Amino acid sequence: MSNRGQMKCRFVYGSDGAGVIEAVGEHVQEWHKDDEVIINAQISCGQCQYCLTGDHALCEKGQILGGKSLPGTLAEFVKVPARNLTRKPQHLTFHEAAAKGGRVIQFAYTGQSIPAFDVDMLMFKQLSLIGTGMNSDSEFVDAIRFFNEHKIVPIVSEIIPLEQVQQGFERMKNSSQFGKIVLSIEE
Ligand SMILES: [Zn+2]
Repeated sequence: MSNRGQMKCRFVYGSDGAGVIEAVGEHVQEWHKDDEVIINAQISCGQCQYCLTGDHALCEKGQILGGKSLPGTLAEFVKVPARNLTRKPQHLTFHEAAAKGGRVIQFAYTGQSIPAFDVDMLMFKQLSLIGTGMNSDSEFVDAIRFFNEHKIVPIVSEIIPLEQVQQGFERMKNSSQFGKIVLSIEE
């Protein structure tokens, strides 16, 4: 065996994504080549006590695409369990579908830690501060159904070719975008 066969793949970023199925595993019956899908990036084991009660977000062995141990979606091909797929809403382009994430309401604060804020303002204005992590499988399906029913289109700030990914990271670092930055991977 050459050394090449033992080389570990470098880290691949990217959690959300949409695309076309290229191939399915032999036991997969609900999906076929060329189906247009959105990926749920929360990969759960499907067997632990949380998964069995539908709480996939709390999965004991839960992983996230593009996280510490699973290669992400900034790639031409990505392999995910069949249950992590949902049909792409027809009213969305692939770029819009990829921008959707898996959340209907999203306040993403993935940069530095949140600075001190005014608790009085929170109380007097009766505002809600909502913390959220990833979603369960059923929440993901519900979110897509909601998108379909109400023909919701996510806000796409810009679409950047994968080759210029660094530019996208810079935009996020500076918080200069409004809406999602989508990386486009052409064949
Ligand atoms: Zn589990």
